[in-house]
Amino acid sequence: MGKASKDKRDIYYRKAKEEGWRARSAFKLLQIDEEFNILQGCHRVVDLCAAPGSWSQVLSRHLYLPAVAAGKTGDELPKLVAVDLQPMAPLEGIIEIQGDITSTSTVEEVISHFNGHLADLVISDGAPDVTGLHDMDEFVQSQLILAGLTVVTHVLRPGGSFVAKIFRGKDIGLLYAQCKIFFPEVHCVKPKSSRNSSIEAFIVCQHYTPVEGMHPGALNQVLDQRHADASSGASPEQSVGGIEEILVPFLACGDLSGYDADQSYPLEASQEGAKPYVPLEPVQAPIAPPYKTAIALERKLHSAPQAR
Ligand code: SAM
Repeated sequence: MGKASKDKRDIYYRKAKEEGWRARSAFKLLQIDEEFNILQGCHRVVDLCAAPGSWSQVLSRHLYLPAVAAGKTGDELPKLVAVDLQPMAPLEGIIEIQGDITSTSTVEEVISHFNGHLADLVISDGAPDVTGLHDMDEFVQSQLILAGLTVVTHVLRPGGSFVAKIFRGKDIGLLYAQCKIFFPEVHCVKPKSSRNSSIEAFIVCQHYTPVEGMHPGALNQVLDQRHADASSGASPEQSVGGIEEILVPFLACGDLSGYDADQSYPLEASQEGAKPYVPLEPVQAPIAPPYKTAIALERKLHSAPQAR
């Protein structure tokens, strides 16, 4: 596909390049923030599954750079930690950790940067490499969210917020129920920049309330206990029973009269004053994308002498 054709097909992809974002996902976080003010007053934030880094750019532009401009230094500056399996090109004010969010050592590394303090916000835009087998993809995605929740139990302060990408599949009620154990307020949110044709949405969980007596990280024990309570008929507040009855408010966010992510627009549409269209290069190419290895292997295969 030519550059112009992708630019035409995806207005948010084009606008991301125009505004200097590494990925169009930046608009999703910005639109969630417009609705929920999740960034307001944040001093410590963890960005899980952060590469190539557009959400981290939002954190840098909205929290770190204004603090620098206001003359803050040292501990007065926000502490923003980003984690991904993939390496990420550096960003001002972002501490980068290359690691797996499901691993304890990664969580320990995140904690080490906060010097005994807890985070105000944990965000996660994690997505597995999609296989096209929906049940499988939804399962792996839900495991990433549970890994995010585990990080929450280690690093989030009471009252803090958690935002994570979800796939709205048939078992999503279970995930809502699990989030409700820790957060009294859970919304399912669809930013305008997320295509309607995609089952992607985001959970916005607010007012973190740690489970009494729970050891940080012991998520599975808490979830197993709640399931056991459900089977034994304990009260609904004590269990994750009645999962199919768990409903959370659904909200569309972003300028609802603004660009529609599923629509194609003329190439001049996003440029102010309808300037002539000039194709732009991506802001930051991935440093070590997994497809590089696949391409190298394929080249090797094709250049090898054919066996007779
Ligand atoms: N929020 C990012 C941005 O705005 O640029 C985009 C994130 S991208 C959709 C999903 C990311 O999840 C990928 O970079 C992938 O490497 C990361 N990921 C998937 N599984 C992970 C894991 N177990 N630990 C850390 N990162 C993971």
